[in-house]
Amino acid sequence: MTDSCLFCSIVARDIPADIVYETDAVIAFRDIGPQAPVHILVIPKRHIPSLAQAAVEDAELMGEVLLAVREVAEREGLAEVGFRTVLNTGDDGGQTVHHLHAHVLGGRGLGWPPG
Ligand code: AMP
Ligand code: ZN
Repeated sequence: MTDSCLFCSIVARDIPADIVYETDAVIAFRDIGPQAPVHILVIPKRHIPSLAQAAVEDAELMGEVLLAVREVAEREGLAEVGFRTVLNTGDDGGQTVHHLHAHVLGGRGLGWPPG
């Protein structure tokens, strides 16, 4: 738990969120500003600022984040039709919340390349 981190506050239930999936290590909730019909954020409960700060010791946890993405995609009916997983990192990556999170986007065809 890092004080003043928005997503740590969601993990602690200090700020409400529409939680769709949770394990001991990760939590998934709907993005407050959805960019697609399905837009869910999957985060590790432990505070890691971004992918740029992920360490070798975080390997298992990062694996759990990805497997949670798969589980959420299946529950939302996206596994068959496809979906996009995005980890914005740092300023140029467009990261605004500095607690590592994977966006799960789907429910419509998604353009490429991103802006
Ligand atoms: P990023 O720009 O990659 O750091 O993504 C941060 C995401 O968090 C954005 O898509 C926001 O819409 C989303 N977000 C911000 N505050 C909340 C909140 N309280 N609950 C759910 N999603 C949020
Ligand atoms: Zn945090």
